[in-house]
Amino acid sequence: MAGLYVHIPFCESKCGYCDFHSVVAEDDVVDAYVEALTAEAEYSATVLGPHQVFSSLYVGGGTPSRLSELQLERLFEVLSQRFDLAEHAEITVEMNPKSITLSKAMLLANLGVNRASLGVQAFQDWLLSRLERKHSVRDAWDALAVVREAGIAHCSLDLMFGLPNQTTADWRQTLAMAEASGATHISCYSLVLEEGTPFWQAAEAGHLQLPDSDLEADMFERARSVLVSVGFDHYEISNFAKPGHRSLHNENYWRRVPYLGLGSGAHSFWHNRRWSTTNDLSHYISSTTRDGGSVRDWEHVVSEQEAADETMWLGLRLLDGVSDGLFRQRFGVSLHSVYAREVDELLSRGLVEWRGDRLRLTEIGVSLGNQVFAAFIRT
Ligand code: SF4
Repeated sequence: MAGLYVHIPFCESKCGYCDFHSVVAEDDVVDAYVEALTAEAEYSATVLGPHQVFSSLYVGGGTPSRLSELQLERLFEVLSQRFDLAEHAEITVEMNPKSITLSKAMLLANLGVNRASLGVQAFQDWLLSRLERKHSVRDAWDALAVVREAGIAHCSLDLMFGLPNQTTADWRQTLAMAEASGATHISCYSLVLEEGTPFWQAAEAGHLQLPDSDLEADMFERARSVLVSVGFDHYEISNFAKPGHRSLHNENYWRRVPYLGLGSGAHSFWHNRRWSTTNDLSHYISSTTRDGGSVRDWEHVVSEQEAADETMWLGLRLLDGVSDGLFRQRFGVSLHSVYAREVDELLSRGLVEWRGDRLRLTEIGVSLGNQVFAAFIRT
């Protein structure tokens, strides 16, 4: 079953490292956006027809918890009226610790949300302020308590490593706090300097003290060993889950299950087409409100070769790997017959291995994942 993604491109302030599609906006702009989004949802549901059932809904951003309770109600009302969600669908909302209140969390729980994704990032106030995050460690603990009290069963934390002046001891403490929080899912991302961001400019000017690549690799290994030792399953390069708590929605991205994205800047993958809606916010609001149909920024028909490449480099992100049997079912040939040169080279370097009918990353391959994925990405 397909996934449904809704993008909320608003934040209370802009973090120095962020190049996501998000802006700081007044309430009337957010109101207009929610109306445009509901128009797009109605239009898209009509185009899809009545028989499409979604196994997951993911509201991401930006900061979805920036929406008011009225706006959240309006959004979920339209989504639930227009789209069929499977009986036990996974329904996730991304939340910023600063903007989630008990009454908002209870409303979301009543609207069917069963998974919270909290952007905690670090458990040191000085690091949060270095990242220009507006929340504190206290806010993160309060948000965790609020989510639990509202009865939202699954809670995922986003954490970051490789941060300016961050030490191994800081990272160890963050991992220990995350584990102690009772979160059922943890995502660990290294800081990426995206061109044009204030962090990128500071690095260019030599004003950013970042851990070197060896220390960053150690931090990643530390996350693996700590989280696995306390019962998390390392199921994707950056993601760890307690048994039964993998992110179905994200796992489906890596398995190339179709998804429909709504909202400005949202990506979709449907019937071998990929497209993105415009991230020009005022264009999105005016055109979508007027015409209903979303305004596409680009659209691409995925060729069979590209589909096979994607199956490899997306599928290998999952530590279960890529099944040769499923590859044959989809493409009519074994994956080795298509990628003999790439696979043999990666095998000889010890970066991948066969486990039954699955080609998967080895321990070394996990650390050098980008080299493995690059073997299947053609420009
Ligand atoms: S809260 Fe998240 S989306 Fe918003 S600016 Fe910060 S990093 Fe970007």
